[in-house]
Amino acid sequence: MVSLPPGALRGRESGSHVSGQVDYRLARNAVVREFRRGRLSRLDVCDAHPELMRAAINVGRESREDCPICELAKIRLVSYVFGTRLAPSGVCVTSDQEMNKLARNSRDMVCYVVEVCPNCSWNHLARSFTVQPASRSQHSRVP
Ligand SMILES: [Zn+2]
Repeated sequence: MVSLPPGALRGRESGSHVSGQVDYRLARNAVVREFRRGRLSRLDVCDAHPELMRAAINVGRESREDCPICELAKIRLVSYVFGTRLAPSGVCVTSDQEMNKLARNSRDMVCYVVEVCPNCSWNHLARSFTVQPASRSQHSRVP
């Protein structure tokens, strides 16, 4: 199943062009496999930064997927956007409106979606994609 964050899909509808998606599921599954084989401990894989944990609990979008490590909570997805006019540490995007606003005002934005377990601190990059300003894609749009 190919799943885009809801913000990305809605951004498309309102004119933002979303492309260059990278899926990190293979790498993520490899880590989970190593954990299940006992080659990685919980300390190795459940090391979410306190800021990331806070973002996951307060503004993360709950997914339908159980945490692969503790299986006690649903994975939460947190989106961070990086771009030339944005803070070097990235901007945590919490709503579709925010994402669309950033897409209008910034160039060469990259959005990173991180999956986080609010229970055990498991975290891994889920996917990343470039978000381009709406005006740029409109130029190349076929009438
Ligand atoms: Zn967990």
